[in-house]
This record gives sequence, structure tokens and C-alpha cells, in this order.
Amino acid sequence: MIRLLRAVIDSAALRHNLGTIRAYAPGSKVMAVIKANAYGHGLVSTALALGDADAFAVARLEEGIALRAAGVRAPIVLLEGIFNAEQLAEAAHHGFELVVHDPLQIKLLEAHRDARRFVVWIKMDTGMNRLGFRPEAFGPALARLRALTVPSLELRVMTHLARADERSEPMTIAQIEKFEATLAAAGLTGVQRLATSIGNSAGTLGHPRAHGDWVRPGLALYGVSPFADATAAKHGLKPVMTLETTVLTVREVKRGETVGYAGAWRAERDSSIAILAAGYGDGLPRHLANGTPVLVAGARHPLVGRVSMDMIAVDVTGAPKVTAGSRAIVWGDGLPVEEVAAHAETIPYELLCGVSQRVPLELK
Ligand SMILES: *Cc1c(COP(=O)(O)O)cnc(C)c1O
Repeated sequence: MIRLLRAVIDSAALRHNLGTIRAYAPGSKVMAVIKANAYGHGLVSTALALGDADAFAVARLEEGIALRAAGVRAPIVLLEGIFNAEQLAEAAHHGFELVVHDPLQIKLLEAHRDARRFVVWIKMDTGMNRLGFRPEAFGPALARLRALTVPSLELRVMTHLARADERSEPMTIAQIEKFEATLAAAGLTGVQRLATSIGNSAGTLGHPRAHGDWVRPGLALYGVSPFADATAAKHGLKPVMTLETTVLTVREVKRGETVGYAGAWRAERDSSIAILAAGYGDGLPRHLANGTPVLVAGARHPLVGRVSMDMIAVDVTGAPKVTAGSRAIVWGDGLPVEEVAAHAETIPYELLCGVSQRVPLELK
């Protein structure tokens, strides 16, 4: 081991989680959401590890292009779609599927003369109020897309849930019902039916009615629970990323002395403080609170003082086996990232996506 700090990516866990998701939604295809560098796990390596996924979804054109350049041949969906003719031509060239959520995108398709076959996901806004046609605008958008001259354009429909992680929140069912009612009003039932996609991770694991023909999990693939009231393990998910680091030194700090910038933590007793190689330069939030658990040499110990750019301090008093060179885990195997996120008043998504470029990703 030559690296002080690394993010170990467990590709077997990725595949296991895909299997778990399939078991939750056995009738649905899986669009694996790997935007934002696969939530910090490495875009291309994650796609290659998830070769069994039915499709991949990314937010930006460049992400899709990087996947094609790496030889990924599976369907790739651009979740935000395209915004000018050049991007549309590029998407056609790479055979990307498009989410269409704004009239501008319909206009661009209407002006497009490339005969290549597009798969278009019309996005309906059922209450998220972010992207998509409102139910009253859905029919006209559908009619324009149906009239397109692009040969054999294939239409599908999707929506996105705003509160699926809150299990008993009625908004989820209200959104699904609005989605279904709008499709019925547009005549998209029976033989006219289009393929549907509704659920993200929380929708997939928690709401069978949100399955549709395609589920769109992101977080759950990475072995993280979308629910505050249930661990990932309870859902049969295994953490994929383990952020591992090294103890640089252990120092004895006298009662009354402070540790780190701003003297933000003061020892109430003589203490042994381990200094670890991990900081906000690696993507740890600077406001990780005192008391955030860190797994040092296999046992949990509390973080103390301010997070520095390259280092954190951990109180290892009474753990004589911790020495310079000991291994530590900031999150991952044995210490769920969900738990760490709660100590930074953030969500696991932000911690995973925030792992910085200097952190080497090592595939296991
Ligand atoms: C990011 C995203 C997802 C995945 O969400 P998770 O909560 O990570 O499962 C699904 N659908 C859309 C439209 C998204 O933007």
C-alpha cells in the first residue's frame, strides 16, 4: 500500500446491489444512474462493472461521450437532454436517448434532419417543479413529438418523485396518480401505452407502484440507503465505496490544551489524538462535527476539532494499538456514509459526489 488515502471501489458490491434492485422491481428494466462520476465512484469503471444494466443515465452530454469513448455500447439516457443543434447532432452520432422536458428541445428535434433513430423520454412534471411538462402541457408536447419527421422516433414517458424517501408521505402516491391520469387523458393506454419510468432509488425500494417499465436507481446502486429509517443492510445493499486513510501520528495532548485551527476543541482530560490523512482537500466537509465517528484500526473513535485541508484529528484515548501507520476508514465498510453525512448535516449523495480529484479510486 503506497497511498496514504484512497477510495476503494468494490465492484462485486456494485453488481450485488444491481441484483438486489432487480429483486425489488422484477418486472422493470434498470437504468443505472451514473451521473456525477457515478456519484464519485468513477464513471467508466462503474459502467464497466455494471455491464448487466439495461441502460445508463447521465446528466450531461460529455459524460455520455466519455462512456462511448470507453467502449460502452449500452443505451445511454441524457437526463437533462440537449440544448442546441450541435449537441443534438452529437447525441445522434453517439446514439444517446434524450429526455425532452422543454419546448426548446422539441423545436430542435423538429429542425433536425438526421435520419438516425432517437429514443425520446418525454418528461412529465407531476409536482417536483424542476424539469418536465406540466400535466396540462403534456398533451400538446406529445402531439408535437408524435408529428416529428425523424424516422421511427420511439417515445417513452417519465416523471421524477420529490419525496419518495419519506415512506408515508402522500405526495408520492399523488404524483404517481397524476402521472397515470395524465397518460390516460392523453390516450396512452392499452395498445397506445408507452414505456414508463418513475422511481429513483427510494421509489424503487419503497413504492412498488413507482416501478413502471424502467426504474432509475442511483444511490442504492452504491449501497446507500435512501431512507432515514432503514439502513442499507436492511435493504440488502452493500456499501461500494470505502474511503480509507492512514494515521500520520499519535500525540499526547494535555488536559486544557486545544487541537487544530481556531482551538476549536479543548481536551477535558489528557488525551491521545491521532492525526489522519484526510481533509476538505479530499472532499470531507469542513463542518463535520466534533464527535463524528471515524473507524481507526477497526474501532470507532470521535473526530475532534476542525477539519483541515489534508488532515483530521481523532480522539483515540485508551486505544494503545493505534499508532502512526494504522489504517482508518472515514466511511464505507463498517461505517455507513449515511451516518457520517448526518454529522455534517448533509446527505450521503453530497459526500460521495464530493470526493475530490486527488483521491485515487482503486477498483477491488
Ligand atoms: C439522479 C436521478 C435519479 C437517481 O436518483 P437516486 O435518488 O440516486 O436513486 C433518477 N432520476 C433522475 C431524473 C435523476 O436526476
